[in-house]
Amino acid sequence: MSSMVKKSRFHGQPDLISFVKSARDRKKPNPEFKQEIQSIYAEIEARPLPRDCQMRTRCCHFRLTGKTPLLTRGEALYLAIGVRGSGRKVLKPHPEGACPLLGRDGRCTVYAHRPFGCRTHFCEAAGGMYPRKHLADLIQRLEALDEALGGDGSRPLEGAVAAVLDEK
Ligand code: SF4
Repeated sequence: MSSMVKKSRFHGQPDLISFVKSARDRKKPNPEFKQEIQSIYAEIEARPLPRDCQMRTRCCHFRLTGKTPLLTRGEALYLAIGVRGSGRKVLKPHPEGACPLLGRDGRCTVYAHRPFGCRTHFCEAAGGMYPRKHLADLIQRLEALDEALGGDGSRPLEGAVAAVLDEK
């Protein structure tokens, strides 16, 4: 990967580029990855695309929808912060085959840390899935971060988070 590509994916931020190099060298998550994830999530919110999520949680019922969000390593690490912050160390399967992070009250228990897919979801009531062309640059940034963090691509939510929670 050329430095030109790195600069375009990370908007030329020197701190982040050095972080990426550092993370790649050490193959351990550096806390600074949070800045990039938060920046990507903030960028979604800033884009003028109509959304009406209101925590509807229809997209959280994986068994019913037949769809599960796929997470890159950066997303999984960030989501795990929310999971640990709620006092959990492992994920328990949802009795109805929904997301293991869906609470008994029917609400997401980690809403502030929910992954990219949950923010650009396929819920028709909330406006349907974002067209990929509006998100391609953000997906590239997630993929570049995944590579920098030693990830191996997107994985289904349960497995991606469980793997991170298993790490010391
Ligand atoms: S992380 Fe939260 S918003 Fe995403 S599928 Fe799970 S419960 Fe739903």
